Amino acid sequence: MKVIDHINKAKGTLFSFEILPPLKGKSIQSIYDGIDPLMEFKPPFINVTYHREEYVYKRREKGYLEKMSIRKRPGTVGICAAIMNKYDVDAVPHIICGGFSKEETENALIDLQFLGIDNLLALRGDPIKTEANFLPHPEGHEYAVDLIGQIMDMNSGSFLHEEMMAGATDFCVGCAGYPEKHFESMNLKTDLKYLKDKVDKGAEYIVTQMFYDNQKYFAFVDACREAGINVPIIPGLKPISTLRHITFLPKFFHIDLPEELADELQKCKSNDDVRQVGIEWGIKQAKELVKANVPSLHFYTMGKSESVKKIASAIF
Ligand code: FAD
Repeated sequence: MKVIDHINKAKGTLFSFEILPPLKGKSIQSIYDGIDPLMEFKPPFINVTYHREEYVYKRREKGYLEKMSIRKRPGTVGICAAIMNKYDVDAVPHIICGGFSKEETENALIDLQFLGIDNLLALRGDPIKTEANFLPHPEGHEYAVDLIGQIMDMNSGSFLHEEMMAGATDFCVGCAGYPEKHFESMNLKTDLKYLKDKVDKGAEYIVTQMFYDNQKYFAFVDACREAGINVPIIPGLKPISTLRHITFLPKFFHIDLPEELADELQKCKSNDDVRQVGIEWGIKQAKELVKANVPSLHFYTMGKSESVKKIASAIF
């Protein structure tokens, strides 16, 4: 079933989450170990993030450097199929522009359709570590809106190689939104203009970047409505759980931690202290969001379900 149908038929706020494929060499069991504790909250869908290759330089004879591509995590197709089979919930693979030609994207989508996966979260992807700015594949897409365009073409039966296809796809597509603005965007208004383009192109719902100040989410939803973006906006939540997160999350995701939370975090001496603060903050945030009747509380688990389970237990 499609994410948009889950949202439309829900009587209240849903619980959903995203997982990170494990590092190469681990088995599917490591994914199940992260999902099992959360199944009691009946997620109708589970997202699976995609991580593109990275480049490293290896020193060879005579001082030459060889550029090598390394993939640290497996792709999403097999993981999504395994999740759907084991749990009978819908899997939502993240599809990115970065590193893919249009042809490769089409092939990946055909594999997903073949497996009965009809949900996608369409993203651009971040620049890889060796690039200062995002560089699209020469035969690929520069922005998420272009990727959504390709998916919509496939949904209307238009493929790169039409003679290969028996029929149209039928994907429900979500896209990303940023309550605190995307870090490359000149300002929130410009960012919203491009967000509207994604929705106008065919994205049926938005999942937000994580935030810790609900007022920013509420203001973002109001700004979206004013800009004519009328699809459901799912809030993304990530419980802070380590001392490292305190500096890593603002730096990596370009988000602020509100003063009240920062004050509590500054008192923490250990990861356990941070985890406790993160759970309490998460419960407070989640309660207010549920009261505002948001479509789903969507948790970024990043492979760790402990804190999410504690927050969900207090809510559902
Ligand atoms: P876009 O919508 O393409 O926007 C990128 C930037 O370009 C923005 O600043 C936007 O304002 C601007 N822009 C858009 N269109 C135009 C245009 N036509 N002309 C000029 N400027 C334009 N990354 C991964 O690699 N894998 C994942 O699994 C993943 N999952 C994510 C899930 C969520 C919910 C979120 C919020 C992010 C996720 N990301 C993931 C990160 C995401 O790929 C990055 O934030 C990326 O930098 C932007 O992706 P986007 O789809 O929002 O890009």
